[in-house]
Amino acid sequence: MEDCIFCKIVAKEIPSDIVLENSEFLAFHDINPKAPVHILIIPKSHYDSFQDIPPVVMANMTPFVQEVATKLGVAKSGYRLITNIGKNGGQEVGHIHFHLLGGAKLKWGHFSDSNPQGNL
Ligand code: AMP
Repeated sequence: MEDCIFCKIVAKEIPSDIVLENSEFLAFHDINPKAPVHILIIPKSHYDSFQDIPPVVMANMTPFVQEVATKLGVAKSGYRLITNIGKNGGQEVGHIHFHLLGGAKLKWGHFSDSNPQGNL
C-alpha cells in the first residue's frame, strides 16, 4: 500500500533489521525497543489492523511466530505477543503488526492515564 511504512519495509525500500522472513511474513527488530527482545511480526500483505485480517492469515502466522521466538531464544523463557488496534489500542502504524516482547520479566499495565477505569 502506498505511503505505508511497513509496506515499504516489506518492499526493502526502507531498511530493517530482519530476523526471519518467508513468502507471507516478515519479522524485524523494533526501532525503539521496549524490552531486551522486541520484534515486530507482520504479514507482507497490507491489512490495517487485527480487525481486518482474515483468519487464515492468523493461522499461517502461528508457526512463524513460534519460529521467531525460538530463533531469539525466548521460546522457553517466555514472551508477550501484542497487537494494538486503532486509536484507543494505541496503534501508531496502520499496517497490522504483532509486538513480540521478551528477554526479561515483563510488567503488566493497560492504561497510560491515571484513571484505572479508563475513559470508556
Ligand atoms: P504501534 O504503536 O503498535 O503501532 O507500534 C508501532 C511500532 O513500530 C513502534 O514500536 C515503533 O517503534 C515501530 N517502528 C516504527 N517505524 C519503524 C521502523 N522503520 N523500523 C522498525 N520499527 C519501527
